[in-house]
Amino acid sequence: MSELNDLYQEIILDHNKNPRNWGKIDLPSNFAEGFNPLCGDKIELYVNYNGDKIQDIKFEGNGCAISKASASVMTTMVKGKTKDEITKIYNEFHQIITEGCNHDHYIDENLEVFCGVKEYPGRVKCAALAWHTLNDILKRIDNNG
Ligand code: ZN
Repeated sequence: MSELNDLYQEIILDHNKNPRNWGKIDLPSNFAEGFNPLCGDKIELYVNYNGDKIQDIKFEGNGCAISKASASVMTTMVKGKTKDEITKIYNEFHQIITEGCNHDHYIDENLEVFCGVKEYPGRVKCAALAWHTLNDILKRIDNNG
């Protein structure tokens, strides 16, 4: 079990060091900022949404390894996806960070690294920051709808 934890820690540190989809999008269709005052995590999220899908997504920000890794993993998972598909992933992610992992049901392997977050209540908001910021964007897309 501790070997698994080490593996997950390595994945998180890798995403923290080499975040995927890092940077800005010129003239994004949508933009949102997120802030987690408990830890000081900040994120700027750039999205190009059209044809009912996220065509491109990038982020920049400052924060702890968990917040950055979570944003990085999120961008790799939602690129090319529709809003409904993203909502499903978000619901699964949210369940994992608040309730932990129930291995009786399928868990996306990209999300498995966050199974241990529940053990650190102070980190739940760090892990959720990028997703909450993306939710702000998706809600606005809804309203324009
Ligand atoms: Zn944090």
